[in-house]
Amino acid sequence: MKKPALHWQILIALIAGIIFGFIARSLSFESFVIQHISLLGTIFLRLLRMVIVPLIVASIISGVTSLDQSGGFGRMFTKTFIYYIFTSLAAILTGLAAVNLFRPGVNTNLGFTQVPEGLDRSVDGIGDTLLGIIPLNPIESMAKGDILPTILFSLLFGFFILKTPDKYKTALTDFFNAVFEVMMKLTQFIIRFTPIGVFALISKMIAQTGFDVFLPMLSYIYTIIMGLAIHALLTLPLIIFLFGRIHPYKQAKAMSPALLTAFSTASSSATLPLTIQSVEKNAGVSNRVSSFVLPLGATINMDGTALYECVAAIFISQVYGIELSFTQQALVVITALAASIGAAGIPMAGLVMMTIVLRSVGLPLEGIGLILAVDPFLDMLRTTVNVWSDSCGAVLIAKSEGEALKV
Ligand code: ASP
Repeated sequence: MKKPALHWQILIALIAGIIFGFIARSLSFESFVIQHISLLGTIFLRLLRMVIVPLIVASIISGVTSLDQSGGFGRMFTKTFIYYIFTSLAAILTGLAAVNLFRPGVNTNLGFTQVPEGLDRSVDGIGDTLLGIIPLNPIESMAKGDILPTILFSLLFGFFILKTPDKYKTALTDFFNAVFEVMMKLTQFIIRFTPIGVFALISKMIAQTGFDVFLPMLSYIYTIIMGLAIHALLTLPLIIFLFGRIHPYKQAKAMSPALLTAFSTASSSATLPLTIQSVEKNAGVSNRVSSFVLPLGATINMDGTALYECVAAIFISQVYGIELSFTQQALVVITALAASIGAAGIPMAGLVMMTIVLRSVGLPLEGIGLILAVDPFLDMLRTTVNVWSDSCGAVLIAKSEGEALKV
């Protein structure tokens, strides 16, 4: 019998994981799931993380050096940034509208049950974050898995390969193209284990959290889901259809392995190998475009996170009964954008970045305690939207560069 396609395998694993996690909770063997089954998820995540840095470096260098023939580095840069900023702002404004319409925090008495960890380790200011993009030592950044400095150094390295005499240019270009081929093969191998990883991660998450924590937070969850749904199912499809004549459904199908993995891992960075693979193999985008748009997008283009930052901050103000003025709401919009750019592509990064948004309008940081319990679930949703937006950007930019796509 033929094996079902990867996205079906992942979907089945996802549903089986939910059911299994639920059974584990009901029959009180959740500690077995949390301790043992989750190991498979940890192995899967480690394998993905193992390939991220070499994949990004090889992918960017081979992508930038291939820009030589066609030129247009600056043009692609500009288009990519316009797309990132525009879609993130659209997401935030959708969130702003939803939270003002549904007002999930008004008349809500939640009580404070938890104090979030890590708030004392205050988030760096925006200035420090920007400076941090320039690596003091690129090898150290790669070793620590700091994505943005690694991207900057790889972009520069690739760019200056093009300035060297032909002898070196050919040798280095061939070398990095070859490394990239190897990394993609290795990635494809790891991707085969996605269903097992997804099953383990989801069953652990359900066994650990259960459904009870959601009850008092239903209207908040509903507001975020509505906002994310409008952005992912309406705004982004409309953008790729109107500006690129790209078929949203085909694009979603092409991206389904990456989207399901984003949902299960809650990490754009860990999903990056699958995102690159799906965008190139299933959607037909060239490495030249995907290597530029995707690694950068995984770290700085986070539409789902941007929307969430805005909704969560205003939700907290509503719970505390603090009416935010128009200027304050505008400040929330701007800092939500900054927070989404600054958030790393790892689980719960957005929650930690909330401090920036809350501080900007003087809201109590303890408010984060309110939204902590349901954050792992919302993180899965917003990460899926983050990856979806990156992939839409990649196909749109590829189309505008005249590439013939499969979507
Ligand atoms: N987990 C998200 C991501 O990796 C970031 C966030 O916490 O919002 O895209």
